[in-house]
Amino acid sequence: MHSRLFIDGEWIAAANGAMFDVINPANEEVFHQVAAGAASDINAAVKAARRAFDEGPWPRMNGVQRAKILNKIADTIEQQTQQLARLEVLDNGKPLPEAVWDMEDSAGCFRFFAGLAQKSDNEAEEQIALDDPGFKTTVVKEPVGVAAAIIPWNYPLLMAAWKVAPALAAGCCMVLKPSELTPLTALELADICHSAGLPKGVLNVVTGLGPDAGQPLSEHCDIDKIAFTGSVPTGSKVMAAAANNIKNISLELGGKSPFVIFADADIEKAVEWVMFGIFWNQGEVCSATSRVLVERALYEPFLARIAEEAKKITIGNGLDEGVLLGPLVSKGQQEKVLAAIKRGLDDGARILTGGGVPAQHQNGCFVEPTIFTDMNEDSWIWQEEIFGPVVCIKPFDSESEAIKMANNSRFGLAAAVMCADDERAQRVARAFKAGIVWINCSQPTFAEAPWGGYKQSGIGRELGRWGFENYRETKQITTYISEKPWGWYLGR
Ligand code: NDP
Repeated sequence: MHSRLFIDGEWIAAANGAMFDVINPANEEVFHQVAAGAASDINAAVKAARRAFDEGPWPRMNGVQRAKILNKIADTIEQQTQQLARLEVLDNGKPLPEAVWDMEDSAGCFRFFAGLAQKSDNEAEEQIALDDPGFKTTVVKEPVGVAAAIIPWNYPLLMAAWKVAPALAAGCCMVLKPSELTPLTALELADICHSAGLPKGVLNVVTGLGPDAGQPLSEHCDIDKIAFTGSVPTGSKVMAAAANNIKNISLELGGKSPFVIFADADIEKAVEWVMFGIFWNQGEVCSATSRVLVERALYEPFLARIAEEAKKITIGNGLDEGVLLGPLVSKGQQEKVLAAIKRGLDDGARILTGGGVPAQHQNGCFVEPTIFTDMNEDSWIWQEEIFGPVVCIKPFDSESEAIKMANNSRFGLAAAVMCADDERAQRVARAFKAGIVWINCSQPTFAEAPWGGYKQSGIGRELGRWGFENYRETKQITTYISEKPWGWYLGR
């Protein structure tokens, strides 16, 4: 396990020598310490990335050359999947099979952007038609410059991959700041990238606390682009800091995503996908479908069936066989989720199952799978992101009512619909005010498809060719090709 900052190809201590504890949320034991980077370390990292961008080979390589290294990074992640996944479980708490899946997705993300890098060579220059034959215009794509990536703790390596892979594919150099709660796999990624042949200074990783390392990074005037995933309040601070020097910005913020289930849906499939949409990754998922709307005729049978299944979920240490729900990432997150549950009860909602710390898991940061019903549409638990295994379920009577309730949110990250009538499903999907919509499922995510939200869920899209464009500038080069003098001042 690494414990130092990775700057300009070297492992170094924080300038002030500070360290912070890394805690296993399954038992609250400190198992490691990592350097607590601050403003001077951020300066050093940005300086290294700037030098690598202005003078180094990476932005000057073609896409085929960059793809070779990105594919090597993907190969290594695949080879080290088991070790990396175990590290992720120690840091984050998630069940091992989920962490293995994250590692595979991270490798897939590097491979996908390697493919785009390779393809981009042939698309780098485009002639565009003009209405004046005296001119010729070529549009070229270039890397945006030095990028900063600030990532959360819910998918530590995968969130790093979503930003590092497209940024590197585009030819950017960068500084990555992981969450203080889960710094370990980002440091491993630095090692993997370096071993794969990434030139020094291209990827720098500074671990540290949000206000001490994240804030100076988002304020830094030598950063051209900032990509952030996390909460709305922090996203708003990052946006304000980015205004300093008008940084190009993409934000992936929270959600309170609806899942609309019509009465003709298969109840077993509905229960399975609703559970996957909220209990997978302990509900610590920005796109978790945490507001479920069930058509009245199916409402009571659905409640009975999901409560029965939620009680059966095996809770425990993510490294133990058969566990499907691990601890939340930290004591602080557990307290936040328990406070949200109390607030729901205080506001008059009813708990169908769960609602506390599991009796057999009093140590560690566990919360039971929790199902709320009977809440008001304007209540706090129906409207606010909880980021834990807590789902709120309400009935509806008509399609138009379901759409209105689904869209009644300040967020707009994701939404899902399940019904037997495909025409209706397509109609509802188009009526959702959300950037990601699932039909007859919830959560599956692909590196090829755009990811991001409407409203306060963010700005811009990650993944796919949309994510790649985040890290590229568009330049027009216009040449005067006519033999005719321009004749504005001279020769009148
Ligand atoms: P934050 O938004 O605070 O953290 C996300 C990242 O931003 C972390 O790397 C964090 O560092 C960093 N950060 C914190 N403060 C600053 C700052 N002033 N300037 C720049 N970067 C900063 O999320 P939390 O970890 O506090 O989680 C709080 C809530 O956010 C969750 O309960 C959940 O509701 C939501 N959330 C949403 C996520 C999503 O995917 N949309 C992901 C994670 C959380 P550090 O961790 O070191 O403080």
